Amino acid sequence: MSPPAVPRAPKATTSLLQRRSPLAQPLQQRATLAALDLSQTRHQGDFDQALAAQGCQSLRPDALEILQLNIGKLCNMACRHCHVDAGPDRTQENMDRDTIDACLAFLDQTTAHTVDITGGAPELNPHFRYLVDQCVARGKQVIDRCNLTVLLLAPLADLPQWLADRGVTVVCSLPHYRQRNTDRQRGDGTFEQSIAALRRLNAVGYGQGDPQRQLTLVTNPVGALLASNQAKAEQEWKAGLLQHQGVSFDRLIALNNMPIARFLEWLEASGNLQAYMELLVNAFNPATLSGLMCRQTLSIGWDGFVYDCDFNQMLDLPIRQNPRAGEPGDRPRLQIRHCTPSDLAQRQIITGSHCFGCTAGAGSSCGGALS
Ligand code: SF4
Ligand code: SF4
Repeated sequence: MSPPAVPRAPKATTSLLQRRSPLAQPLQQRATLAALDLSQTRHQGDFDQALAAQGCQSLRPDALEILQLNIGKLCNMACRHCHVDAGPDRTQENMDRDTIDACLAFLDQTTAHTVDITGGAPELNPHFRYLVDQCVARGKQVIDRCNLTVLLLAPLADLPQWLADRGVTVVCSLPHYRQRNTDRQRGDGTFEQSIAALRRLNAVGYGQGDPQRQLTLVTNPVGALLASNQAKAEQEWKAGLLQHQGVSFDRLIALNNMPIARFLEWLEASGNLQAYMELLVNAFNPATLSGLMCRQTLSIGWDGFVYDCDFNQMLDLPIRQNPRAGEPGDRPRLQIRHCTPSDLAQRQIITGSHCFGCTAGAGSSCGGALS
């Protein structure tokens, strides 16, 4: 089954891959970050030093709680800040049914209580509904990371009710509750379409306090700034969206933008890269370390390779076989088909300067602020 054709939707830019930008290559992204001089910042901009100062020689995983599946890079949008470099042109990178079944077989061996489905726009993967049904049948909590505008596509018109019937938690990205800021990051018309989609979710019971129909909004700064105070922003957003748009939601989570892919490109092009990295490093907050998502979450790519988190996935920093055996070297990357939970328990989480994005300020993870 091939992915559906992607109808018109707001687009702020195009993918790095489509533009043949050198930054489309994760190696080039890592080199760009490595070339920055952060010697004047806290811990000389070295994440391992920042950990060591807290008496922590390396990051290690706790018990697995969340299996995050990135089921493709195809998206109906092309936002300026996208760390996935997703877009309508990314039709080749979609998880196939065999890989989904391998993920489910792995899930059955784990303690994970939640499956977090992301992309791209995961709903555009032809196996999305199969995956959700399989996870629900196993009694797992399911999260759909949704960009909202995708819900307006004609083939997905029934999706809000379909998700509600299965108790899927919908986590929706919306940069800001004001039109100008949202459209600047995601393209003209995004705000209007997002509000229309939120109305559809409200109409089927989402965003009104029902634990089976939880609607979370995700905001990230528009610009080279840290995420705003989550609790304060939630109150402001709830009041603003209800008063001006008549829509409600349950929870707001505020994330830092990661210096990866298109946000990295924007930082570099706008002359903000050095200052943004210094901001992240100098805002290192040790209280975030225990909640870092890589400690409780495992991230699987569309092709079945296994990563500590979605950010390591985009920077092509895979978990390799024999995690107890010294330096990674040329060890093969770990495939979910050949992986058991015990292969992963003793591993050392792969870190780099991008990790300061997770530890800056109140911290940042797929579940929101960490402290
Ligand atoms: S940020 Fe989300 S909605 Fe925007 S292009 Fe990336 S995956 Fe698509
Ligand atoms: S980017 Fe964040 S989640 Fe990923 S390994 Fe670094 S600290 Fe952990």
